[in-house]
Amino acid sequence: MAGGRDAAPAKCPMRKVDLTNFRVATSETARKINRQIALTLLRRHQPMSRADLARRSGLQRSTVSAIVDQLIDEGWVTEGAIGRVPRGRRPRFLHLNAERAGIIGVDLRPETTTVGLAGLDARFVSQTVWPTPREPEQFIIELSRSIDTLRSAHPRIVCEGAGVSLPGRVDASGNLIFAPNLGWRDVNLKAKIEEAIGLPVVLENAANACALAELWFGHHPDHLKHLIAIAVSEGLGVGLLLNGQLVHGAHAMGGEFGHVSIDADGPPCSCGNRGCWERYASNAAAIRYYLESTGHAGPSTGQPPLRFDELLRRADQNDKAAVEALARMGRFLGIGLAALATGLSPEVIVIVGDVTAAWDRVGPFVMEEMKRRSLPRVCPRIIPTDRATQPRLRGAVALVVQQHFGAHVVA
Ligand SMILES: [Zn+2]
Repeated sequence: MAGGRDAAPAKCPMRKVDLTNFRVATSETARKINRQIALTLLRRHQPMSRADLARRSGLQRSTVSAIVDQLIDEGWVTEGAIGRVPRGRRPRFLHLNAERAGIIGVDLRPETTTVGLAGLDARFVSQTVWPTPREPEQFIIELSRSIDTLRSAHPRIVCEGAGVSLPGRVDASGNLIFAPNLGWRDVNLKAKIEEAIGLPVVLENAANACALAELWFGHHPDHLKHLIAIAVSEGLGVGLLLNGQLVHGAHAMGGEFGHVSIDADGPPCSCGNRGCWERYASNAAAIRYYLESTGHAGPSTGQPPLRFDELLRRADQNDKAAVEALARMGRFLGIGLAALATGLSPEVIVIVGDVTAAWDRVGPFVMEEMKRRSLPRVCPRIIPTDRATQPRLRGAVALVVQQHFGAHVVA
């Protein structure tokens, strides 16, 4: 589709037809694909005239007009100002109607949960934050209450669905199968939340959601296909977007590089293993380095006695132990990123989390280790995301947005 004619040499990834799960294409399939192409082009290049859309898509003017008329009827597209052209009929510009659908975004974290109501452009009209309850049942009650309040405050916004980004892995049925930092297990969160709020729900690992947020709302070229998101928080989440698709693996556990052991004799991890990468490169790791070097480590109480933002503050005040703890965390981040970059050759690696606020301090150590340990041709762009853009929450919105704008799956 778009970009094919003027992009780099055509590379056609061929996929083997899955003979256990396929559907043949019908004329309806072609209509759906063309509609999604038109919607996606409009989303990316608006405002556009019908002629622009025909030119960029390569579709016949009459086909474009039929698609656009239907999109206008359904409220996805609006017609705006009349454009200026040197001669001939003056075109009307088409815009994507971001208010066509309201989307609930939920960022579930071990300490706090953020719930927001956004349009298709992931701009939030309202948000609320509350402490995450310890039990999933209580979480669902609080979530339902919170969404009710948001929806009744904005009765004119029609909600299409809810996306939830969470610190763990969810299988295809919506069961939470792995969430060591949350401490919940084998809960069918999708079914329970859908029942409580009466909307379709999509759940996804937070790092995967952040990768999607970059793909849908980040400022990247259209041809971006290989992106890795690293969510640095209490743990370390890795979201893999390869060949334009999120990678889940055979058992929905794909991407758990945070729990790859880099030292068999290292500190114990909440997953049951020892020496996992996240024990060296997460916020919790930096806090541990600081407490060890200042002699305040003491027996583990399960609760960190120092918050990460306090550690950042101390580093800003030139507390030497805090500066060193962040540098050590940065070096271990770089060690893991070099392994990911060497093994997967992404175009972009985005870093998400509070550590990006101290990137001037941490980034040089990350880059130094990466350069030292990567192959010469491996040089992804490393992008620390701005915390203010709320990548986890926008990622939750992207989960629902991609259902409307994502490429149609034929096979
Ligand atoms: Zn682990």
